[in-house]
Amino acid sequence: MSKRSPGQKQNTRLAHAGREPERFHGFVNPPIYRGSTVLFPTAAALEANEQEYTYGRLGTPTVRALEEAIAELEGGHATRLAPSGLSAIVATFLAFLSAGDHVLVTDAVYRPTRRFCDQVLARLGVEITYYDPLIGAGIKDLIKPNTKVMFAESPGSQTFEVQDIPAIAKAAHEAGAVVVLDNTWATPLFFKSFAHGADVSIQAATKYIVGHADAMLGTITASKAVWPVIARTHEELGLCVGPEDAYLALRGLRSLGVRLARHQASAIALAEWLQNRPEVARVIHPALPSDPGHAIWKRDFTGSSGLFAIVLKPAPKKAVAAMLDGLDLFGMGYSWGGFESLMIPFDPSTYRTATEWQAEGPALRLHVGLEDLDDLKADLDAGFVRLTTNS
Ligand SMILES: *Cc1c(COP(=O)(O)O)cnc(C)c1O
Repeated sequence: MSKRSPGQKQNTRLAHAGREPERFHGFVNPPIYRGSTVLFPTAAALEANEQEYTYGRLGTPTVRALEEAIAELEGGHATRLAPSGLSAIVATFLAFLSAGDHVLVTDAVYRPTRRFCDQVLARLGVEITYYDPLIGAGIKDLIKPNTKVMFAESPGSQTFEVQDIPAIAKAAHEAGAVVVLDNTWATPLFFKSFAHGADVSIQAATKYIVGHADAMLGTITASKAVWPVIARTHEELGLCVGPEDAYLALRGLRSLGVRLARHQASAIALAEWLQNRPEVARVIHPALPSDPGHAIWKRDFTGSSGLFAIVLKPAPKKAVAAMLDGLDLFGMGYSWGGFESLMIPFDPSTYRTATEWQAEGPALRLHVGLEDLDDLKADLDAGFVRLTTNS
């Protein structure tokens, strides 16, 4: 464990969490351990199976360093890594759910999470109910005797509804269910899952933690009470991550604070600028006072990241395509959290079931990267000209 004293703040911990230079000849970073076989010195040691490392799949010093850092930053008991954010979510569902159980899932959930529920959990005999992300304490009315998990994602993918996690957690715990939160948007820096009642906090580390669009990774952090179930299931499922990917995440983590500060400032500035554009019907960003989720965001979060959405005034598909196709700095691609800006169209009306997506026109999701703000505005400005001239 790295040196830690009470009262140290987040950027200090980002620089030191998970590091033990004295174990690695003074080198600041842990080495990339490649390995499957780990040798035991004696037959007795082999039989006891108690040494720190026993087999590559079960962890290496590179993997442990990242796990320790994430657990500390999330404020949880311990962390395991998964090869993607989605696999971290899948492992967590499988840890708690059996045939005949019931799970409550936010209607604003990341689509591949929804697909896993509908395709795999349903096939395994788990009953799924999607709930309005804004339901808050009202979720108690949806609880059944067999409800085992409440899955939240706040703000929600694409549509950014801010969930009342403490209220949901209270209802869940009264019913003996566990609260699993996809905390990717806020990262461990801007939302403390465990302080707000979650039992498991998941990061698609692929996004801000890796931060450079060069690796896939997921993290599962759990409270002490549910940790044994997570640790056991993670091992039983055979999940492990490559040492280079764990290393890239550690490297990304060291600059997470400064990167997020800039993502946050640029995204808010751009959101405010977009609010005044005649082509834009509304901006969906929880840090804007006009946003419906602003009050809860302000109560529970300590910052906002670079991802938000806009709804355009009605415009034909070809006009939106002309806007997007000509963008120079905003790339079109899934994922987010890297240093580069991105923009994609989306339409939740095609897959929501508990709530209805109401939009004045086409919706776009923006990830504001680390570029200079004026250049991003100029790129969007030219895009709006193409939108208007093709309408
Ligand atoms: C990207 C994403 C995931 C999945 O992460 P992968 O590493 O792509 O599997 C999960 N949740 C949210 C909110 C995401 O944006």
